[in-house]
Amino acid sequence: MREVQECVGCGSKRLRSYKANLSPFLAEMVHLVPRSRVRFVRCRSCGLLFYDPRMTDEEIALLYEDYRGKRYQSVRQKHEPWYTPEMNECVGNDADTLRERKETLFSVLAENTDVNAIHRILDYGGDQGQFISDQLADRERFVYDISGVPTLPGIKSVDAAQGFPNDLDLIMCCHVLEHVSFPKEILERLRALGNEGTLYYFELPFDSPMKSRRTGLSKKLFGILTRSSTFVNVNNKMRGFSFSMHEHQNYFDEASLREFLERNGFGVQVIKRTTVPTLGIRAEIICCLAKKK
Ligand SMILES: [Zn+2]
Repeated sequence: MREVQECVGCGSKRLRSYKANLSPFLAEMVHLVPRSRVRFVRCRSCGLLFYDPRMTDEEIALLYEDYRGKRYQSVRQKHEPWYTPEMNECVGNDADTLRERKETLFSVLAENTDVNAIHRILDYGGDQGQFISDQLADRERFVYDISGVPTLPGIKSVDAAQGFPNDLDLIMCCHVLEHVSFPKEILERLRALGNEGTLYYFELPFDSPMKSRRTGLSKKLFGILTRSSTFVNVNNKMRGFSFSMHEHQNYFDEASLREFLERNGFGVQVIKRTTVPTLGIRAEIICCLAKKK
């Protein structure tokens, strides 16, 4: 693991730290000794929330090799008994989630661009390619994913060693940025894959552990109180809660995602929040369309 002293999104050193731990599941998957020097960080400049230290590429590879396969499920259930084989099967394969995610992508594209001009699509980190909208099924479709799972019929798998396709009209990067240790590196890679006219579609969960359901004055007051690390640490202790580093390492909101993209050579065209059904609830997601500046 690698400790960081600055925001992994905007590079600011204005950070506020809260007590956190490493989840036993993550520790076992990645062969780490549970450690106390884990902190949950809020960047005071862009608002990004993230864990420190960060997993190295080798550790990330251990976590995502055969993602949600047999070892993943059994290690996870050992530490999180509710994560049964049935639950594992459901996560990522829920028909309603898949349908609405595909519909969301297509509606964002249709509302903001000429979808007929999209001929070549790459889903970066797109599993088997199942998240590409059905209305785009007659386009040339590529998927790059480190898990090595086979792609769906009609979708070409990209081998990074042999090079990525060029002349891409749309590059998707969905539910990836929250998992990676150094999101700027992924963004640089994505930037290099597109040209001037390439559209980029980013999608990620809006699931901050500091999210408050409060409204109005109570929300404002809570926001002020959570500026104090001491308040948050004591409040968490009283509630028997702790920030626990798991698969998600970064928690973007619209502001921090915009700042992150704009600082790293992208111009944001649209950014919005919506919901999709996830394991029986409606979970919030952030969708964003951007182009290279
Ligand atoms: Zn920041």
